Amino acid sequence: MRRISIFGATGSIGQSTIDLIRRDRDAYDVVALTGGGNIDLLAKDAIDLGAKVAVTAYEDRLADLKSALSGTGIQAAAGEHALIEAADREADWIMSAIVGSAGLAPGLHALRHGTTLALANKESLVTAGPLLMRSAQSHGARVLPVDSEHSAVFQGLVGEDQSEVERVIITASGGPFRDWSLDQLKGATLAQACKHPSWDMGQRITIDSASMFNKALEIIETKEYFGFAPDQIEVLVHPGSYVHALVGFRDGALMAHLGAPDMRHAIGYALHWPERRDLPVERLDLAKVGQLRFEAPDETRFPPLRLARQVMEMGGLAGSVFNAAKEAALDLFIAQKIGFLDMARLTEEVLNQMSTDVSQPQTNMSLDTVLAADKEARARVMALQTKQ
Ligand code: NDP
Repeated sequence: MRRISIFGATGSIGQSTIDLIRRDRDAYDVVALTGGGNIDLLAKDAIDLGAKVAVTAYEDRLADLKSALSGTGIQAAAGEHALIEAADREADWIMSAIVGSAGLAPGLHALRHGTTLALANKESLVTAGPLLMRSAQSHGARVLPVDSEHSAVFQGLVGEDQSEVERVIITASGGPFRDWSLDQLKGATLAQACKHPSWDMGQRITIDSASMFNKALEIIETKEYFGFAPDQIEVLVHPGSYVHALVGFRDGALMAHLGAPDMRHAIGYALHWPERRDLPVERLDLAKVGQLRFEAPDETRFPPLRLARQVMEMGGLAGSVFNAAKEAALDLFIAQKIGFLDMARLTEEVLNQMSTDVSQPQTNMSLDTVLAADKEARARVMALQTKQ
């Protein structure tokens, strides 16, 4: 039996992972499940899957979790230190699906035990890519991509020599505002940003898809995970979300990965890797799909795409600053304190303010320096917002 843990078990990716585990229940020994505020779901799944421990990120919810698990023999724990303890428990495969940079520390701890980390938490790579990948390498651990585009590139590279790759193209659905003018984008509401045309995801990544911050994070994620140069990474808008990524080789060949927009595809690939197994995903009927449409991305209406290039050029801790400023601005947008375009504006302002502080050799990167840059960027977003 494979020992597995799921961080962010109550979220969209966590639930899709649990769906796959349930279908082959006897193959897995569930060590830890973690969540945030959704205690009922966390407890229900922990009981159903026979987890050893269930952890909520929030200390003030420990009593609720304990009561929901009473009499089951499942250990209940809470808080950041409990997440780290759960990450330190031996497991063969760990799903990293906490949302935001809160996923970084548990992921780093898990890698120290030489485990396989299935990484949905793209913020870890954007915030501290060199640290994460170095840690995996030095502990003989493996990081497998779960973002659909990165899983697609990973699959496109199987059996290939990466030095023969000329470019990689990651696709973007374009989100609900693909055709909107800058004026319309100014007035985009929270409810409108929460409606994704093709993917069913958590609220934060759904809004990030509408603003293209999600694609900006993925550009940086592509650089950090695969080591491609920034000018080898392209974005293509593809409203149908059938083609997830393409890998272009030196002979001009483009290898595309196609599939229905269902995250169980990429999760299942990471779960069974290096094998392929049956997955309960829709089989694409291309005759029904009819046409595949592509468009060039627009960096004027969607400035995060331009900012991603700036972050890669800056290097050092720019990724930590970019991600943290974006997360803080997203909180403000969700709280309806700022407008849709203000998220990119505030992020850019903080990135520019901190440009000299962040440039440092990547070898100096540590969890402490990353967390300090993250904290400072969040504080600066709040300061800019209250000044207005
Ligand atoms: P959700 O918002 O649906 O779920 C997030 C999970 O993290 C939940 O279990 C939530 O708990 C938990 N959580 C929230 N805040 C904290 C915190 N501070 N500390 C610890 N745990 C916390 O997100 P998604 O599943 O959509 O996304 C998860 C990650 O996967 C993100 O990094 C996202 O970018 C990435 N991803 C998601 C895709 C998708 O299709 N959804 C596709 C590709 C990547 P609770 O709900 O109980 O509060």
